[in-house]
Amino acid sequence: MAKQAKTAIQPTRAEDFPEWYQQVIKGADLAENSETRGCMVIKPWGYAIWENIQQQLDKYFKATGHQNAYFPLLIPLSYFEKEAECAEGFATECAVVTHHRLEATKQEDGSTTMEPAGKLNEPYVIRPTSETVIGAAFARWTESYRDLPLLINQWANVMRWEMRTRMFLRTAEFLWQEGHTAHETKEEALEETRQMHAIYEKFLREHLAIPTIPGEKSEAERFPGADMTLTVEAMVQDKKAIQAGTSHFLGQNFSKAQDISFTARDGSTQHAWTTSWGVSTRMIGTLIMAHSDDDGLVLPPRIASQQIIIIPVTPKEDTRDAIIDACEALAKTLRAKSFHGEPLRVLVDKRDLRGGEKKWEWVKKGAPIRIEIGPRDLESRKVCLQRRDQASNEKAFLEKEEFLRNVEDTLQAIQDNLLTRATQFRDANITECNDLSDFEKHWNAEQPGWLITPWAGSTEEEETLSKKHKITIRCLPLDQQDGEQAPCILTGALTKARAIWGRSY
Ligand code: AMP
Repeated sequence: MAKQAKTAIQPTRAEDFPEWYQQVIKGADLAENSETRGCMVIKPWGYAIWENIQQQLDKYFKATGHQNAYFPLLIPLSYFEKEAECAEGFATECAVVTHHRLEATKQEDGSTTMEPAGKLNEPYVIRPTSETVIGAAFARWTESYRDLPLLINQWANVMRWEMRTRMFLRTAEFLWQEGHTAHETKEEALEETRQMHAIYEKFLREHLAIPTIPGEKSEAERFPGADMTLTVEAMVQDKKAIQAGTSHFLGQNFSKAQDISFTARDGSTQHAWTTSWGVSTRMIGTLIMAHSDDDGLVLPPRIASQQIIIIPVTPKEDTRDAIIDACEALAKTLRAKSFHGEPLRVLVDKRDLRGGEKKWEWVKKGAPIRIEIGPRDLESRKVCLQRRDQASNEKAFLEKEEFLRNVEDTLQAIQDNLLTRATQFRDANITECNDLSDFEKHWNAEQPGWLITPWAGSTEEEETLSKKHKITIRCLPLDQQDGEQAPCILTGALTKARAIWGRSY
C-alpha cells in the first residue's frame, strides 16, 4: 500500500478537527493564547487580516451614510439598571471595575505586592456591548426629528467573561465593530437592520469567500432586548454552524429605557427606533475553519495579509544578486497593479533559509500565490507559479509577461474557487427533513450536517429539542418563510415557516 503523504498540519481535519484548528493557527503564526484568561495575542499575520476586514467593511459602512465615533470602555453600572433585559442577558459575562488604584507594599523578603485600593462609589462595567453608553449619548443628541437618523459605528474591543473560549471564535476580549442607529420611524429602523444584514452577507461572500445563510433568529436565540435579530450563519468543514454576524432591530426598547426622545413633525414627543449590528474577530476563525486544509491556512486573496510571495531561489553565489534584483523588480511592478481597488500586497522573502523551508512556511500561512524565480527562470524570463488552492506539488511555468498580464484574474480565480468549494460543501450538507424520527436519528451522526424543517413550535418546544440533541435553530432562512404549507416537524401544525437546525460553535 502506498504510504500516505504526510501533511503539514498534524492532526488532519478528519483525525481531530478542533486540534487541527489550533495547529493551523499556530502553523500560520496568526495568534497565541495569553496568560490573561480567555484572551489571545493576535500576531502580525493575523492582525493584518483584521486590518483588511476593517478597511473593506468600513467602506460599505461609509457608503451607506454611517460615521465612526468612539465611546468609553467603562460603563457606569447605573446604565445597566435602566435596561433590564439586555443587562440580564449579559450579567453573567460582565467584568466589573471596582477600584481605581493599586497600593504597593514592600515585603520583608524585598519583594513588592500590589493590592487594589481606592474603592469606587459606583463600579464600572467593561463594555460587553455599547447599547447603553451609546444610547445615553443618543439621548443627549436628539431633540427634534431633524436630528435623526443617527448613523454611528464604533471599531472597538469588548469584554465578555466567556467560560468556554476558543481562539478567534469565542474569546473573552474580542475586536469588533458595533453599529448603532436611531430613527424617526419603525420602517426606517427595520430597513436599516435589513440593509446592514445584507452588507454582512455580501461581505462574507465576496470578500471572505464564505457563503452564509441569511435568516432571522428564533425568539430563544435573539439578542437580549431585541425585537428581531437577523443573522448570517456559516457552515465550516466539520459541518458546524458559526454565527458570523448579527443585525438587531431594537424597537423602542432601548430608546424608552434611555429616553432617546424627540419632538416629532406634528409637535408630539416620540421615542426613536434603534438598531445595532456587529461582526467580530470571530470572522477570522470562521475563515480558517471554512477554507483551510491539512497543510494549513488558505486565505482568500481579497483579505490575505499578503497576496503574493516571491521566493528567490539562489543555489549559486554568482547569480544571487541578479535573482534578488529580478524578484524586487517583479514585486515593484506587481505593487503598481491593483485588485478590487487596492494595491497588490506582495512580499519578497529574502531570508537566508532553504527554499523548501520557505515554501512550506508560506503554504502554512495560506498565501494565495507563491512565485519562485531561480537562475534558469532568469535566463528564460519565466516564473514558477504555485496556487494555494491547488495541490502543493502543482506548478505552472509562465512567461513573466503572461503572469503579469493575468495576475488579477488569477487572484480572482482563487477567490472564486474558494467560494465555489465552500458553497458546494454547504449545499451538500443541508438536508430537508419532514419526519420527526428521521430528525431525531440524524443527530447521532458524528458530524451531522444541518436540517431544514417546517417549524411552528413554541420557544419551550424548541428548547426541549435543542437540549436533547445539543442543537439550536440557527435561523429561519429569510428566503424560505413563505413556502408551501407543511406540517411542523414537531407539532404537526401547518406552517409556511422553515427552520435550520445544527450544532454550532
Ligand atoms: P452580539 O452583540 O451578541 O449580537 O454579537 C455580535 C457578533 O459578535 C456576533 O454575531 C458574533 O459574530 C460576535 N461575537 C459574539 N461573542 C463573541 C466572542 N466571545 N468572541 C468573538 N466574537 C463574538
